[in-house]
This record gives sequence, structure tokens and C-alpha cells, in this order.
Amino acid sequence: MASSSPTPGVCYLVGAGPGDPGLLTLKGKECIEVADVLVYDYLCNPEHLRYAKPGTERIYVGKKAGDHTLPQDQINALIVKLTKEGKTVTRLKGGDPVLFGRGAEEAAELHEAGVRFEIVPGITSAIAGPAYAGIPVTHRSHASMLTIFTGHEDPTKPDTSLDYAKLAQADGTKVFLMGVERIEEITQQFLKHGAKPETPVALVRWATHGCQQTLIGTLADIAAKVKAAGFKAPAVAVIGDVVTEREQLNWFESRPLFGKKIVVTRTRQQAGVLSRQLAQLGADVIELPTIRTVPATDQIAFGQLVQDCHTYDWIIFTSPNGVDAFFTMFDKLYNDARCIGGVRIACVGPGTAEKVKARHLAVDLLPDKEFVAEGLVKAFKDHQNMEHVRVLWVRAEETREIVANGLTGMGAIVDEAVAYRTIPETEDNLEALARLKNEGADMITFTSASTVEHFLNLKVALPEGCKVASIGPVTSAAIKANGLKVDVEAKTNNIPGLVTAVSKFWKK
Ligand code: SAH
Repeated sequence: MASSSPTPGVCYLVGAGPGDPGLLTLKGKECIEVADVLVYDYLCNPEHLRYAKPGTERIYVGKKAGDHTLPQDQINALIVKLTKEGKTVTRLKGGDPVLFGRGAEEAAELHEAGVRFEIVPGITSAIAGPAYAGIPVTHRSHASMLTIFTGHEDPTKPDTSLDYAKLAQADGTKVFLMGVERIEEITQQFLKHGAKPETPVALVRWATHGCQQTLIGTLADIAAKVKAAGFKAPAVAVIGDVVTEREQLNWFESRPLFGKKIVVTRTRQQAGVLSRQLAQLGADVIELPTIRTVPATDQIAFGQLVQDCHTYDWIIFTSPNGVDAFFTMFDKLYNDARCIGGVRIACVGPGTAEKVKARHLAVDLLPDKEFVAEGLVKAFKDHQNMEHVRVLWVRAEETREIVANGLTGMGAIVDEAVAYRTIPETEDNLEALARLKNEGADMITFTSASTVEHFLNLKVALPEGCKVASIGPVTSAAIKANGLKVDVEAKTNNIPGLVTAVSKFWKK
């Protein structure tokens, strides 16, 4: 009987939202998490793909206007085939899947093929785009009606399904998508059919992304402005009095770091916190991981030291990565948190301490303000007599010997548990490298000496005028040693400190 039971395959037609990574629905995220295959478009923010489980197949089907990576009928055939194979297919489409997204056609094909599908609505650029430019599509004083149309149709064609006479005369706000290339014809049609030339118009490009751009004009002059500015797709256009609300409601583009392109060079796993904080302040962040951490070469030696950790007086952590590597090993060796014993714990800085605290372990010693190895050594000096004190230092393979030398100098017995090593990132940054080359950047951030060295190893020139921000003195020294100038150095040597310094810099 098993052979006649329906295949378990299902295809989710998911709206991925307009671009801001936060504008994905919870259901959309769930569909990405459970997918065996992701099939996604040009306008779907690739950041969403990180919710996929490891090993999920990813198929890019493009669809940038004029550059159809895969024609629509082949996309239809592809999702039908994959679903029929019994897979969970998540088809991600920019904005909402059925608003000028051909989601209905894909659904019809799936229906025809007798396979299960669901439509998961998304936040459409038609409404979110204007909102991020400070333009509400309806408003009690300006518009109680909204018309959304496609600008992709050629209005000069006699067989157009758009009735410009009606559109021009209709009340309320009009929004159109896919219309930048035809802005001249569309505005002409409106004017020809009696719309007021002074009607406000806004175009919002790459809306909700860090690189959002807004162009304001009127039906009479917007086409010329588009031409003069070289304004290109993708953009949402809004016609109507609601556009005037932008004067007071322009919240997104007035955030402190808006318009600044900032490069984050940390490992992909660690970049998130810094990227998010910069993005929240409005920056357009390019995540360019220059390094990746991998387990230390000698896992046996590391494992033995972790196993003996309860025999020490102190464990010292000098990086969040070290904490992660230590407890990954610890959890393999023991299944009882108490096996760490009564050992005391010291950390180099708050970021590392947070990681320890997340394990519900207290941190007994932390430098006052100098969150570098020297600061930690000084903290020990002020804290206790280190004569014959047994210390386990959890460290990276390539690191400065400050901690070992400093503590040994005070009479401590220091064992070094090499937990991980840092290697150059060579795979996960190709897209970011291309962006950096094509678009340039206003600032690059370095969060450790190794990010500096590995960035320079990539042999990409720093874009003209690009400022350099450093997390602290050790990183700054590495920057200077490589012939670069430090424009900003964090006063507090951690991520929040770096973010504060960066925003202060751009405030000037
Ligand atoms: N289903 C999508 C629209 C697909 S049609 C949605 O609901 O948003 C593609 C057009 O959508 C683009 O040409 C552009 O006009 C618009 N668009 C999509 N995302 C956009 C964005 N982030 N910024 C500006 N326009 C966008």
C-alpha cells in the first residue's frame, strides 16, 4: 500500500519581504528552517537563507529584469519536480508572493501536478517601501484609497490592460512596481489624462535595505530627475499627496549611520552582533568575513587539558571563541556541569565573560577597563599572590604570549590549552568582495589583529576615502604596522564600545 500513499512533498510559496532581514514573517522563517530545497529570486534577501538547516540545497533562479536566470516555465517545472520527489520545497519570492510575483502561476502548476502547496504571504514592497521612506500609503487627510499597478506593461502598446484614463482620474494613492524604466511614459500618460502636474511623486529604490534611496518630485518633473540622477530599478513609485508626509515621517533615512557603508571583517559566526548594531543605527553593512575559526590541530592534547580543568585554581579565557571551543569539548567529555569543580574563572573582557555567564558560571576576575591580555595580567597582579597558583589558559593557536609570560613571571604555573585556530576565509566572502569592489565603502571595522592581517591577505585595495575603525590598541597596532591609518579607536574595547566610537565619528 505504501506505493499508493501520497508523496510527502510540499511546496511553500513564501513571501520573503522587501529586504530588511527583520521583515520576514515567522511562518516564512519556519518554512526556510524545514526546507530540503530553497528556490529563491533576485529580490529575496540572501540573508534569510541562513535559517536553513545545514545541507539544504539552494537554487538561485534569478529574475532580475532582463536577466532571467531561469525562465518562468522552467521554474514552474523545477518546483513541481522537486516537490514530486517528496521534498519540502521553499520557494522564496521578494515581497509578497502573489503581488506581481507570479506566485499564482506557480501555485496553479503545483495544483495541476497534484502536489501539496501553501501560500505564505509576505510584506510587500508596495506598502513597506513607501513606509520606510516615511510615506504612508493611506492617510485620513490625504487618501482613503490605494491602487497598485505594474509599470512593466508598455503603456504605448495598444493592447495594454491598464486604463490610464481611469488611473489618472482615480482618487487616492497610486503605487506602481517595476516602473523605473518606463517612468517617462507612465507620467506622460497620467498628465495626458488630466492628472495635476504638481501631484507629488516618490521613488524608493532598494527600499528597506541599508542602501535605500528616495527621489522626490512631481508628475511633471520626476522623469527628468530619474534621468539626471541615474536612478535605477528596483524601485517602488508612489503618486499622491501622501508623499508630503515624508517631510515629517522620514524615520529610516534619518538614523545616525544611514547612508554609510560599513564593512565588518569578523568571522561569519561572530559578525552578527556587530552587523546588527550598526544596521540598527542605519548603516549599510557589508559582512566580509576574512577569517574562520576551526578546531585546534591537536584535539587530543586539548581534550586532556579540558578533562583536567577541575584540578586548576584558575581557568583563563581570552576570547569568546575560546569559551565556545572549551565547552564544546567539555560537553563531549562530561555530562554533568559540576565536573568543572571549584575552579575560578577569569576573562579578558565583557564579550568573553558573557559567553561564560551564558553557561550559568560566574566570572571571578575581569580587567577594569583594559580588555586586552596586558589588562588581564594586571588584574591578576592586583588580585592575589600568584606564587604556585595553577592556571589553565584557554587560547588560540596563534596568539601573543602576554598572559603566559606575565603570569609565569609572577610565579604561577601556566598550562596552555590550545582550543582553536584562525584560518583565512576563502569561500564565504565572494559576494561581499564583489560588493566592496563595485560599491566601495565608507568605513572598515577591525575587531582583532588577525582580521587586519587576513583582510590584507585578500589583496583588495581599500576603497578611496574608506575610514578605518579599530576595537582597541592591539588591533590598532596591527593596522599601523601594515601601513594603514586608524581613524577611530574604541574607548571601551568591545563591540558596544566600537559601535559607540563609530557612531560618534560620523556625527562629527
Ligand atoms: N512580489 C513583490 C514584487 C515583485 S515585482 C512584492 O510584493 O514586493 C518586482 C518589483 O518590486 C521591482 O521591480 C520593484 O518595483 C519592486 N520591489 C521589490 N522589492 C523592492 C525593494 N526592496 N525596493 C524597491 N522596490 C522593490
